[in-house]
Amino acid sequence: MADKRDYYEVLGVSKTATDDELKKAYRQLAKKYHPDTNSGDKTAEAKFKEASEAYAVLSDPDKRRQYDQFGHSAFEGGAGGAGGFDFNGFDMGDIFGDIFGDLFGGRRGRSSNGPMQGANLRTAVRITFEEAVFGVEKELELTLKDECSVCHGSGAKQGTHAETCSKCGGKGQVVYTQQSLFGMIRNVQTCPDCKGTGKIIKEKCPECYGSGYINSKKKIKVSIPAGIDNGQSVRIRGKGEPGTNGGGRGDLLVEVQVSRHPIFQRQDYDIFSTAPISYATAVLGGDIRISTVDGDVIYNVKPGTQTDTKVRLREKGVPTLRNKSIRGDHYVTLVVQVPTGLTSEQKELLKKFDEAMTGKKDHNESDEKEKGKKKFWK
Ligand SMILES: [Zn+2]
Ligand SMILES: [Zn+2]
Repeated sequence: MADKRDYYEVLGVSKTATDDELKKAYRQLAKKYHPDTNSGDKTAEAKFKEASEAYAVLSDPDKRRQYDQFGHSAFEGGAGGAGGFDFNGFDMGDIFGDIFGDLFGGRRGRSSNGPMQGANLRTAVRITFEEAVFGVEKELELTLKDECSVCHGSGAKQGTHAETCSKCGGKGQVVYTQQSLFGMIRNVQTCPDCKGTGKIIKEKCPECYGSGYINSKKKIKVSIPAGIDNGQSVRIRGKGEPGTNGGGRGDLLVEVQVSRHPIFQRQDYDIFSTAPISYATAVLGGDIRISTVDGDVIYNVKPGTQTDTKVRLREKGVPTLRNKSIRGDHYVTLVVQVPTGLTSEQKELLKKFDEAMTGKKDHNESDEKEKGKKKFWK
């Protein structure tokens, strides 16, 4: 142990170095000699260990004082591991957690120190079929969180302030390292004392009960674009939960629920419906009125149209979301109606028509047969 280097020398700082200077110096060394970046290099490992030990001592005010007074002998004769230094007495998570967190970004969890964007909020709005086709403005009333104006989000009573959590040093997470520090087996957990906020509030703000937020009802206009379909969402930037530590608000996602229409059905950008036509119109042709989302149109049915004939009304469908001047089509199925409840005069005319079509006079006969059957069965 006689040749053990002076801790200040190891870190390359003066004896009056501030905490920040120590941290900065150690960070540089740790980066340079970290076992992850110098795999298998014994010299680097030794240097890393040496610097870590120096920093562990000097970053702790009590230990630093002892060291300043007694030098290395201050720590000799303790529980002493291989290096003659007992790391067990330190809360390694506190000392190294943020440094390695900063150095090795990939390992870093969600740090509660940095600005964090707020969470997205979700809500739903119901609109009609036509509103989905042509777009609509809706006003939603939502309960939104805002930073408490009394405590400015700290959650602490006026005149007091939230204290940095001593368990995690304000980081919101606790790093548990296994005893073999240089194997760098680290477990990061949300701090149990502050629940990850990094702060402990002794006296709570009476306005927000310590939450730092106030809920209030807000009216929010949402512009729903033409062509939106059932289940799609509109994103409103910056209307979600407030961020923390200067992070921006999350977004509000408004899911659109489209009510069913009594006659129109939709598939993608096309609309489907059926239209009744009379037997005479089917046979002779003629104009019919068809409902579309643009209002009624007159359609000329061709003579001899069979039932279930599909006609296409071009660009009477739904506008596309990307470009509302591009529209789908409207497909109409023409359904020939079989008349019911005819008067005897109408029946006569239909019989005559049938006779003319077939050249036979068999309707009366079949009527007689029907009657005969009924008699038979009764
Ligand atoms: Zn408050
Ligand atoms: Zn904590």
